[in-house]
Amino acid sequence: MAQLLEKLKSRIPSLLRNFDATRISLHKYEKWNGGDSFVSREIYCNCGSNDFFLKCRRIKKITGLIFKKEITENKSPIYAICNECKSTNLVFDELRHGWNAANTNNQALSVTDSLESIFDKPVSLVVNYSYQSIENYEDLIESGCKNPEDYFDTFTIYAIEGGSKSICIASFECA
Ligand SMILES: [Zn+2]
Repeated sequence: MAQLLEKLKSRIPSLLRNFDATRISLHKYEKWNGGDSFVSREIYCNCGSNDFFLKCRRIKKITGLIFKKEITENKSPIYAICNECKSTNLVFDELRHGWNAANTNNQALSVTDSLESIFDKPVSLVVNYSYQSIENYEDLIESGCKNPEDYFDTFTIYAIEGGSKSICIASFECA
């Protein structure tokens, strides 16, 4: 079990292969999702830069009963645009990535006609994702699955500001 978990965590899920995704300590920035089932990776562009502008679908919502407040939620798909070489790559799309999407073999992408910038300046990116309920992954491999690393069950994207402060951009339950 522990060996299988380590194997899953050491392999790079296909959605991150457009980047250089370096595994880091779960506690490098802050103590988020530090359980054994989780893995964190810093995201670099293939040109070596880790300065990205982020774009995604954004939805405005009013919250609060008495003191109304407008909040903006970041939704998938989430794209990263490199500030150096300007290449644009998809980071995450819930229709295509993670346990549920991988099980339905969905190739569709979310609509991308109204993407908005999340920040007005570039940020560094860290992703944190997980393989909980390890017995499900044993079954998956026994049934002949060759890419179990693509079947992660949560996926969270953080922006790193000023070298250390992490901001959660969006978090997805994928299973
Ligand atoms: Zn680049």
